[in-house]
Amino acid sequence: MKKIQMVDLQSQYYKIKAEVDNAVAGVMNSAAFINGPEVKNFQKELEDYLDVPHVIPCANGTDALQIALMALDLKEGDEVITADFTFAATVEVIHLLNLKAVLVDVDADTFTMDIDKMKAAITDKTRVIIPVHIFGQCANMEEIINAAAPNNIVVLEDNAQAIGSDYHFSDGTVKKSGTMGKLGTTSFFPSKNLGCYGDGGAIFTTDDDLAHKIRGIANHGMYERYYHDEIGVNSRLDSMQAAVLRKKLPHLNSYNEARLKVADFYDEAFANHPEIETPTRAAYSTHVFHQYTLKIKNGKRNDLQKFLAEKEIPAMIYYPVALRKQKAYFQESNDADFVNTDMLLEEVISLPMHTEMDEEQLIYITDSVLEFFK
Ligand SMILES: *Cc1c(COP(=O)(O)O)cnc(C)c1O
Repeated sequence: MKKIQMVDLQSQYYKIKAEVDNAVAGVMNSAAFINGPEVKNFQKELEDYLDVPHVIPCANGTDALQIALMALDLKEGDEVITADFTFAATVEVIHLLNLKAVLVDVDADTFTMDIDKMKAAITDKTRVIIPVHIFGQCANMEEIINAAAPNNIVVLEDNAQAIGSDYHFSDGTVKKSGTMGKLGTTSFFPSKNLGCYGDGGAIFTTDDDLAHKIRGIANHGMYERYYHDEIGVNSRLDSMQAAVLRKKLPHLNSYNEARLKVADFYDEAFANHPEIETPTRAAYSTHVFHQYTLKIKNGKRNDLQKFLAEKEIPAMIYYPVALRKQKAYFQESNDADFVNTDMLLEEVISLPMHTEMDEEQLIYITDSVLEFFK
């Protein structure tokens, strides 16, 4: 059996190696390393795929979040609501910009921001809500947009984990994740659903003025060469990464389908197990399974992880610590307001999930998990 990995980027690369090698060699031959045609073409192709007017590529998903926030003219102490259960980058950038992170609990089933808690957290200082489409499934965007709109709050989707998923609004409209709020961001970190071979990221927006502003901020606050209208950053997607992404974007749907097949296999194997809860699939969003995350209900999640490690099956705890309790972002809080987050920290375990898994591996993994509970 092929060695089991959380993510198998090498096997995925081998399937498109000739194309990718050619594209990267093309960049080297052209020497257009920065802002070359590959970047502009990728931008256009991603705009078409997402059906969004503006994609602004940048250096990584964390920068994308930071630049998006920088474009909103916020002032110190303005409040940004986001989930307590997410990757730290979301909260890191809020702190970097001296804004106030207002963390709210997540839904016990979808792991995305709890809508009632979010509504209760809105104050007259709330300027931004950042829903995180965690593990590959959209947050409940219709509710979030409806709560934000009357208060003039900007919705900024952290779409680093859910690129390609579709959101279904109650009026029948379908939109791609990351394109529903005024702003959206993503990451092309190698292990993400659309990953490059280094770092990369992008910001999406439907707003022409904001798009212009963001392009400048990502480029030293420059709108005309050597005239700096605001304090910006240097954050670019380089041409080689863009060339790789152009070869991978046409496969994104089939990559997401391959992930879904793995999830279906896992779901079936663990269905109705008294101590294993399989991921909930919300009615309003397709799931692109960036992670396949179980809840282990018998208190033995850590023992399961060890048991699997002995069988050379990697399994990861995303995430082991609530952001409100991280040293860097610590804030006084009432645990009673975060029961779901705190429950997930104890119960979640993510199994290997990628586009190259074969049936032999899946049978071995599911048999091993079930064996643990015997
Ligand atoms: C990966 C990730 C990011 C950051 O992306 P980088 O490209 O690693 O900077 C931000 N938010 C979430 C939810 C992520 O999963």
